[in-house]
Amino acid sequence: MTEEKKIGEFEFKAEMKQLLDLIIHSLYTNQEIFLRELISNSSDALNKIRFRRLTDSSIIDPEAELRINISVDEENNTISIEDSGLGMTHEDLINRLGTVASSGTLEFLKEIKDNKKTLDGSMIGQFGVGFYSVFMVTDEVTVETRSADADSEAWVWKSGGDDKFSVEKTDKETRGTKISFKFKEENKDLCTPDKIKNLLKKYSNFVDFPIFVNDEAVERVAALWHKKKDETKEEELNEFYKFISNDFMDPLGHIHVSIEGTVNFKALLFIPKSAPPAMFTQNVDKSLHLYSSKIFIQDDCQELLPDYLSFVKGIVDTEDLPLNVSREVTQNSPLLTKIKNVVTSKLLALFEDWAENDVEKFNTVLKEFGPIFKSGVNSDFANRDKIIDLLRFETSAKEKGELVSLKDYVSRMGEEQKEIYYISGEHRNLIEKNPNLEYFKNKDIEIIYLIDPVDIFTFPYIKEYDSKPLTAVEKADIKNDDKDSKDDALDKDATRFTLEAFKKVLGDKVEDVIESNRLVDSPVTLVIGKEGMDAQMEKMMSIMDKNFKGSKRILEINTSHTLIKNLSRINMDNSDDAVFENSVNQLFEGALLIEGQMKSPADFVKRMNDFMLKATEK
Ligand code: ADP
Repeated sequence: MTEEKKIGEFEFKAEMKQLLDLIIHSLYTNQEIFLRELISNSSDALNKIRFRRLTDSSIIDPEAELRINISVDEENNTISIEDSGLGMTHEDLINRLGTVASSGTLEFLKEIKDNKKTLDGSMIGQFGVGFYSVFMVTDEVTVETRSADADSEAWVWKSGGDDKFSVEKTDKETRGTKISFKFKEENKDLCTPDKIKNLLKKYSNFVDFPIFVNDEAVERVAALWHKKKDETKEEELNEFYKFISNDFMDPLGHIHVSIEGTVNFKALLFIPKSAPPAMFTQNVDKSLHLYSSKIFIQDDCQELLPDYLSFVKGIVDTEDLPLNVSREVTQNSPLLTKIKNVVTSKLLALFEDWAENDVEKFNTVLKEFGPIFKSGVNSDFANRDKIIDLLRFETSAKEKGELVSLKDYVSRMGEEQKEIYYISGEHRNLIEKNPNLEYFKNKDIEIIYLIDPVDIFTFPYIKEYDSKPLTAVEKADIKNDDKDSKDDALDKDATRFTLEAFKKVLGDKVEDVIESNRLVDSPVTLVIGKEGMDAQMEKMMSIMDKNFKGSKRILEINTSHTLIKNLSRINMDNSDDAVFENSVNQLFEGALLIEGQMKSPADFVKRMNDFMLKATEK
């Protein structure tokens, strides 16, 4: 219990003493946070009186303007912050302005004290004693206050942050609270009107009450998200977006969310027009700002957005969260998880709408943020199907640059086609020359082209769409239904003989050599073995991991191709002919080259030069 010493003098409770001791004797980062704490207390008090005066006409100064006056005296190094809020009674001053709110606080403080040499000033708010953060920047604080109660008296509370405080009568006429103090010498730089205005802009920009610094109104951005949707002007929203994002361009679009029910929050979410240059490399803010009842709590609150939507900017304001919530608390907050889920589905709904009705906008999102967005396929199980429906690809059936959804693709599938086929590669031009496409081209089967490197890490994991398996063309099991029409092909024995001869030359460079059903114009191609990975994926893996060894491929040969038939003949005539051996190696490495997997270009070129030499000697 608080013990009365002499009249008007009180001792802090033990835990409060420890807290003050820590605040006063620790090193701080974020000392400037004191202003946020004081302004948010004032804003709370103003919110309370705004509410109370709706129903209670007996309060003093019922007509007083709800505002915050800050007066900065640079010369004397002093500041005062005054509000026309609810004010405090004698009891409030003793009980509220002198108690540690949560029981775990001291343990937590001790841990900080033991483990860290510095204390992040912004953490003080979480102890439910934000007011005391003022002792980071001053040695003594004076609080003059008068409660709004009709018969209230005015009191002055003083403390040097040691173990005592005093409460005495004073003669404040007006309702509300005025906090004044002199800055410590080392915090002198905070005591200029400009510095204070900057801090207000940073931390209290959306406080719902006018703030004056030395009688000059501070420009504030009104809490746009509290306005009705049709009352917010496009221009205001754009300005707000630029303010919070540091982007110089207007956003591509925004959504205004207002949810009431099991969770209560408002949100303004913006989709930027382009990815900031540092988006993929540096530490730019990757989430939304969190507000509690219009008071800024923290920027970049990672719990409000899944990673794959981290390009979205904006704010979430919820009244369900206490103002003094810490990062530790937000990290495990079920409330924030709920908000995140709602925000995620709202954003996906926006993209669905754009995909349907504003394709240009949607394509901009994919172009700018596709690589991040697509990773949602692997990370957001609950929304996976929606994300998959939002994916777009180039395909063999469309011109370069035209994008197709899986749904479109499936709608064009022929009766007999049971699988969705894809192929990956660095460029469309390279992909189109891949011999593995010949069969599909011949049959007029549409192929999805995976050109964005991230596709390799997402698309194959979709596994199936609309009950149709996703199959890499190199892995497709192609039935030889045209066998009979291939009467110009090598016969059975010649084929077996030739396959064996190829295997002998290539040895363990390949998993197998088999007769191809997919080739039309090319003599050979490489396909993936049973355990193998997509060629592009292997390439990416080997870039990331120097020791990565790709799996062996299967070489398929086109037994109708004249070159293969010629080679078969040469081999039958003389199984030791160097032309055969060189040709087989050249065909194999040529196939690797097409895949971008060529390992020995020097040998390849030398062999080619030898062939040319022979051809030109005739
Ligand atoms: P918190 O704001 O987290 O409760 P503080 O230490 O900042 O913790 O404030 C403690 C209490 O003191 C507040 O809950 C409020 O009752 C009272 N208080 C502080 N500042 C003001 C003010 N400007 N006007 C009225 N009451 C205030």
